[in-house]
Amino acid sequence: MVTTHTLGYPRIGADRELKFALEAYWAGSISTEALETTAAELRRQNWQDQQDLTLVPVGDFSLYDQVLDMSATLGNLPPRTEVKDGGELEQYFRAARGQGGPDTACCGTQAGEMTKWFDTNYHYIVPELTSDTRFELNARRLLSQLEEARQNGHPAKPVVIGPVTYLWLGKARDGIDKLELLESLLPVYGELLNQLATAGADWVQIDEPALVTELDEGWQHAFRVAYHHLKAARPKLLLTTYFGQLRDNLQLACDLPVAGIHLDAVSAQPEASRLADWLPTHKVLSLGVISGRNVWKSDLSGTLDWLEPLYGRLGERLWLAPSCSLLHVPLDLDRETELDPEVGQWLSFARQKLEEIGVLARALTTGRESVSHELDENRSSTEARRRSPKTRNPAVRRALSRVTPQLGQRRSSFTHRRRLQHQRLELPPLPTTTIGSFPQTQDIRTTRRQYRNGLLSDQAYRQHMREAIAHCIREQETLGLDVLVHGEAERNDMVEYFGEQLEGYLFSRFGWVQSYGSRCVKPPILYGDIHRPRAMTVEWIRYAQSLTRKPVKGMLTGPVTLLNWSFVRDDQPRSETAFQLALAVREEVLDLEQAGIPVIQVDEAALREGLPLRPSDWRNYLDWAIEAFRIAANGVRDDTQIHTHMCYSEFNDILAAIAHMDADVITIEASRSDLELLDGFRDYEYPNDIGPGVYDIHSPNIPKTNEILETLEKASRRIPMDRLWVNPDCGLKTRQWPEVREALRSMVDAAKQLRQAR
Ligand code: GLN
Ligand code: ZN
Repeated sequence: MVTTHTLGYPRIGADRELKFALEAYWAGSISTEALETTAAELRRQNWQDQQDLTLVPVGDFSLYDQVLDMSATLGNLPPRTEVKDGGELEQYFRAARGQGGPDTACCGTQAGEMTKWFDTNYHYIVPELTSDTRFELNARRLLSQLEEARQNGHPAKPVVIGPVTYLWLGKARDGIDKLELLESLLPVYGELLNQLATAGADWVQIDEPALVTELDEGWQHAFRVAYHHLKAARPKLLLTTYFGQLRDNLQLACDLPVAGIHLDAVSAQPEASRLADWLPTHKVLSLGVISGRNVWKSDLSGTLDWLEPLYGRLGERLWLAPSCSLLHVPLDLDRETELDPEVGQWLSFARQKLEEIGVLARALTTGRESVSHELDENRSSTEARRRSPKTRNPAVRRALSRVTPQLGQRRSSFTHRRRLQHQRLELPPLPTTTIGSFPQTQDIRTTRRQYRNGLLSDQAYRQHMREAIAHCIREQETLGLDVLVHGEAERNDMVEYFGEQLEGYLFSRFGWVQSYGSRCVKPPILYGDIHRPRAMTVEWIRYAQSLTRKPVKGMLTGPVTLLNWSFVRDDQPRSETAFQLALAVREEVLDLEQAGIPVIQVDEAALREGLPLRPSDWRNYLDWAIEAFRIAANGVRDDTQIHTHMCYSEFNDILAAIAHMDADVITIEASRSDLELLDGFRDYEYPNDIGPGVYDIHSPNIPKTNEILETLEKASRRIPMDRLWVNPDCGLKTRQWPEVREALRSMVDAAKQLRQAR
């Protein structure tokens, strides 16, 4: 028998029950018991979904985040979150979300920092580590869930984050070397494992995805120390790695004294046989053969082709699982009754992936004939996908084959372009602009929803949107901004809006994936060759420009962001899909230019998110990602000004790539880093114009003129004044008009004062 298991399962619920329960609980409208009941019901349902597996995971369920859960288990919630007379749950949510509103700098409890979970779009709460950190076991959550699983009759495998990865994920607050904490951490893990064994756990899954990153000597050593210490613990340990290849760490992983290893055999398939060679014969090899990161049906026969010989060698030592936790895919394809049925055939969500695991296990144990029906069905849908004209559009393929580096090259140097753009745009020094969106009022949202649901005619919808645009232009003229925008009223999301108009993109109805806490996203699915049947934004932007003599900036989402926030087809390299997207965005850019729009912004909010886990792989990613941007944006005339926007404050390690984009203006999020990030741009001698966000749009504080003046003065000490732009640090869609008006008034005033002082 082949042992089957999963590393984790989606927990938000088929109808996002957890999200709604959490939000009701936070709003004070349901009790702790009601929240716990919903959570227990979701766990019960999840285990039931997984009942055909040999082992079900326990402890992968979380009310907010699995890393925060681990911090709670290790007694490492930040001391500031302690609650005098509240319960554990209260403190847990304080650590997750803070207390006293978002502006907690003065009086509330600051929430834990949140960051990306490896290279996924899931975000975790960063463990805080200081020289005062003392770990103390609190195994209640795991023990009670283990008991729950037992009562439901499931053979359970508790899931914990391993000690080395836990430290690796954490942030040293007071400059302490994180590894110094390992010694005090290990006994707590030892005790935890023993308690789980006492409660009946035969196996424990211990997640160490840090093993797919570049580890220096110190971290490698930490792995050896940690697992030699934990060798004495009673349960058998399945050490799991995922999201990439082991490469240099393969030998290290093989040698650790654990009972088994899990490898992500989707991203590291060639390493499977090397592991089988090197692994001592008493160890289990669990192979993650179904992607936990993507939504495609696997090619089961193709998988069996390489899996069968391994099974022949390993026998019962071979386990099967998805590559990583299924947290990163939607729950159930069967709910999607409105999908294009042809494309629907090619997909597999969490529940379907479990079935795929089951078929593979049966094929190995009792032969392919025993599942011939399932394998035939699978083969016919993977073949249909391969042959479908929907995945291959000859015109797109032709255009792609004609892509040359010239396509991404502006005609003249920045200095030359700049002169022409200045003549055309007649901008003052320190020009003011915004990032694109203006407040999405209730009225705007309602209009969009009614239109979507067929309650509003095309004509009525357009009229509403035009009114919103006209209002937005009037407001900006009154404020005295220099480069105006149309305000993005027609967009609910910067990827979805474009995806819906491009061929090759598909949208699910219930395909929610947890992003953090109660927040879910529904990533669109890139399934076929990308084709833009018609202009996507020109009508709106042209209308906006017709209302004003000031330049209006056209607003587009860039190819890399469209890619990184979607599920991407797995039948061609990501770079190829990026180039297809680039060609479609390029057409839109050129149409905007043709329509007389003098400034065009191509947002790349998610460029950095796509960076591979290993820095040695960055170069390759950046090469094609930046090329995709260049193809999208740089086909314009010299006197058309290209802007780009990025929402983060870490640029130093990718500045060469950013400079190579050659955007005439880049607007960045700088206010929260106190403009320190401009040092990097200065030292690099970044050549083009920069708009460092001069205030933080996420904070409810409304900036005063003198605060912005101070910020601008700081900026001008780093970047010559004649290359500086003045703008907020991101879009304004989540704010209210009164605050936006006041903040922008301060911003425009500050720019004016500084101009006069020059
Ligand atoms: N143009 C977009 C907006 O203003 C940019 C959003 C973003 O960078 N996340 O909303
Ligand atoms: Zn932004």
